Amino acid sequence: MPGIFAFVFCRIFLLDYDTYMCISHSMRHRMGLSPEERRLRSELHRLLENADAFIHGSLIEMKRCCGNPNCRCVLKGEKHSSLYLSQHQKGAPRMKCLPRESQDQVRRWAENYQKARAGLEALSHLSWQKLLVKTKTPARKEKRSPS
Ligand SMILES: [Zn+2]
Repeated sequence: MPGIFAFVFCRIFLLDYDTYMCISHSMRHRMGLSPEERRLRSELHRLLENADAFIHGSLIEMKRCCGNPNCRCVLKGEKHSSLYLSQHQKGAPRMKCLPRESQDQVRRWAENYQKARAGLEALSHLSWQKLLVKTKTPARKEKRSPS
């Protein structure tokens, strides 16, 4: 049974109880977070909600000659370029040639992944700082030299 506060809150903001629980959980969960942590988490949340996909990989442009002696790549030295998505997985590289029509999409997916990763790294950095502050050994009193 929801308490009276939940009931009133739901009536005021015209929410159903599930939505209230969700908000309430989220508010409790976020207490104790610094403004920077809240900002990073909001950004990550927005990214996860809105991004169409995430992909871990680097886009690499490769240029090559096709082997046709009458082609511009041989005659004019204008090599053919292809865009590849590349990733090292468990130490082994894997590559996928991207057809022109999917290049923008995959570039966006890779950017989404990079943004999400950067956001997580920033959050991780803040968590490390908290840990290091909490476990810091008390500073020794400095001996003052007689003046
Ligand atoms: Zn060619």
